[in-house]
Amino acid sequence: MKREKYKRILLKLSGEALAGESGFGIDTDILDGIANQIKDLQAAKTEIAIVVGGGNIFRGVKGATKGMDRASADYMGMLATVLNCLALQDSLERKGVYTRVQSAIEMRALAEPYIRRKAVRHLEKGRVVIFAAGVGSPYFTTDTTAALRANEMNCQVLLKATSVDGIYSADPKTTPDATKFEEISYMDVLQKGLKVMDSTAITLCMDNKLPIIVFNLRKPGAMAQVVGGENIGTIVHN
Ligand code: UDP
Repeated sequence: MKREKYKRILLKLSGEALAGESGFGIDTDILDGIANQIKDLQAAKTEIAIVVGGGNIFRGVKGATKGMDRASADYMGMLATVLNCLALQDSLERKGVYTRVQSAIEMRALAEPYIRRKAVRHLEKGRVVIFAAGVGSPYFTTDTTAALRANEMNCQVLLKATSVDGIYSADPKTTPDATKFEEISYMDVLQKGLKVMDSTAITLCMDNKLPIIVFNLRKPGAMAQVVGGENIGTIVHN
């Protein structure tokens, strides 16, 4: 299937994408590498919205398994995403990329509050908009946030950056004969229980016909290739 070139995208970066090998915290070299890829995209006039996760610092579910109140733990997770967003903003701005962080939980000293129309205006002006604090409510994930904001911003595609080349029939790290899908339907992702994004996020994309492309962020230039319509990664659509 021939892919499209995309003008306005939403990029979902997990917290782990910023962490490097240790899986924890922020690796500034890795962050800079990601920022360089984003800078190239912006220079090519792609309108870029970004949702950043917080799993490299704190995940609500994990706190809850240790006895914490789930909602309180989730608020901690949302705050973790803010740290990552500020780090990404700093890295981008040092490279001369104009950005705005909008937070779903108001913290005016650090970030604009989330205002949809304002975010769209920033995109139109070529600023990279980074969405912090998830949807602002517990029991959600930043994957669902990405699906929601992508729809709100009228993005043409949700790019899910990972450390593998796409969606496989099984985990390629543990199952060597796992096969990669070039394309797959939302329903197959749900029915096969493939760990792409949580089911709320997949359903939101399915109901609104928003394609998802899963690709390997660690390959140099991968982001530009995906946005340019090259056939890499796996596309999830109808
Ligand atoms: N979170 C939340 N509501 C949201 C988004 C995130 O409660 O709308 C919390 C939740 O605890 C989650 C944590 O923030 O575990 C970090 O986000 P996520 O796990 O999605 O990050 P990622 O896996 O992408 O690094």
